[in-house]
Amino acid sequence: MVDLASMREPSYTGENRCWPCTLVNLAVVGVFVLWLAVRKRRVLSLVVASVGVGIVYLRGYVVPYTPRFAPQLVDASPLPNDLFHDAIDEHEAERESLADADLDGETVMRELGAAGVLVAEGEMLLLADEVDEAWRDEMDALASLSLSDLAAEVERSMPNVGRADTLVTDGSEWVVVGDAGGELVARPVAIAELAAYRTLGDRIDDEAVRLAGAESFRMFLEACPACGTALVESSEVSCCGGYMTPRQSPNETLVCPSCEQRLFTFPSE
Ligand SMILES: [Zn+2]
Repeated sequence: MVDLASMREPSYTGENRCWPCTLVNLAVVGVFVLWLAVRKRRVLSLVVASVGVGIVYLRGYVVPYTPRFAPQLVDASPLPNDLFHDAIDEHEAERESLADADLDGETVMRELGAAGVLVAEGEMLLLADEVDEAWRDEMDALASLSLSDLAAEVERSMPNVGRADTLVTDGSEWVVVGDAGGELVARPVAIAELAAYRTLGDRIDDEAVRLAGAESFRMFLEACPACGTALVESSEVSCCGGYMTPRQSPNETLVCPSCEQRLFTFPSE
């Protein structure tokens, strides 16, 4: 049996899927299938249709170099641009952290080091063994909760969050935090941070450090705390490169290919 998840190209699918590229490719597949059908190649046209659509689904596009021309093509087409920009608005409502702390990284690392939460091993900073173990136990417990029970735990445990609700979109699960519409925090992120926040409870007194520390724990994740799938590196920008100026380099991210959600964004230089 073919492992479909391993064939997926996370840079161009899931939250990174580029809709101009996807539509252009589906149109190309469609034209080719029609051409074959007209030439009475029925079986071949069916094969091309299913394989073509499958590849676009899994890899983002089937025509080589699509990201270089599709966005311009769509720009020049009479299709309304709003069609593609909805996805971006939705993206803006995403917030990467429950904690959303604004302490600088150096202070956080120093405080976590002083409390024995982080230990230096050569050039690397690692979680102390007993902290790592406690955090993983908490994550396992939280991963077994339903989405609404997880949201209730977030609301009960983290005073900074305010209200917490739930949302499921296209198979992705979110904890919605804050009033007035709220912002979306991916379920795996909520699991990792609430577990880290609890783990830090009896080790860190300062609430700001505890929140920022909980946020920083995510960089130590290797597998998705919600489903156990190994995380893969990806890039924040969709293949159009549309939302930033050419001088900015896109942020590198860690994503769960199963949940199709981002777990960590490496700070840009
Ligand atoms: Zn996952």
